[in-house]
Amino acid sequence: MSTTLVQIQVEEKRFRAHQVIDRLALDIRAGEIVSLVGPSGCGKSTLLRIVAGLETDYAGRVLIKGAKPQLHSPEVGFIFQEPRLLPWLSVADNVGFEAGRGGGKHPRVGELLAEVGLAAFTDAWPKQLSGGMAQRAAIARGLFTQPALLLLDEPFSAVDAFTRMRLQDLLLSIAAHHGTTLLLVTHDVDEAVYLSDRVVVMNSGPGRIAGDVVVPLPRPRDRRDPALGRARSEVLTLLNGAQQDYH
Ligand code: ADP
Ligand code: MG
Repeated sequence: MSTTLVQIQVEEKRFRAHQVIDRLALDIRAGEIVSLVGPSGCGKSTLLRIVAGLETDYAGRVLIKGAKPQLHSPEVGFIFQEPRLLPWLSVADNVGFEAGRGGGKHPRVGELLAEVGLAAFTDAWPKQLSGGMAQRAAIARGLFTQPALLLLDEPFSAVDAFTRMRLQDLLLSIAAHHGTTLLLVTHDVDEAVYLSDRVVVMNSGPGRIAGDVVVPLPRPRDRRDPALGRARSEVLTLLNGAQQDYH
């Protein structure tokens, strides 16, 4: 039995009069890969921001390794839908950004760029990278502090289907290599099922957990595995219920 890395108990999150999250509890074990799916606006990004320490105004308690989330904590990395690389810094300096000025010279930057297949682009500018390459650089940056937990908010939504599959496999190999726990928001049910140990379905109005689907398959997985298809159906059934609650 592995230990619990993240404990989430959000009693309530509001933006003024608008209640976004209502009594949501979720524990994540060290090394686990968990996806969060749910209708648009159900509070997925807000929940991720709470876990990252970017949102602090809520009722409830979130603990990472027993401590409250802190902004810029080395324990937590965040990857967004867009790479958000700084255009005036080299690829290497973007990856080593957390180390401060000249962070690109840090030995781990070279290792991470090699791991994401960008060793030849160390000194390149972000605008010289394709969308998929830029997102690989963002993954390397997210891993720079060697976080125990990586939060990803629809990280592959902006790339084409083929690049997306390659990025999914890269993410899995990286998570396995570094022992990183992943909490990932996605719109793509196939992606959620393929990547995850557990898919958590949220419903909206306000956001709660509708249910979760365990995907008990070893990795590497075959995308055509019928067991993935069955998990997909279970997720879709939960999502259908979640959509019906939407108002
Ligand atoms: P999701 O990521 O599931 O699509 P979000 O967490 O982004 O949903 O948003 C949940 C709800 O909270 C939406 O109705 C959104 O409009 C609202 N919301 C998100 N951020 C803010 C904010 N900073 N101020 C006001 N309302 C917000
Ligand atoms: Mg969102």
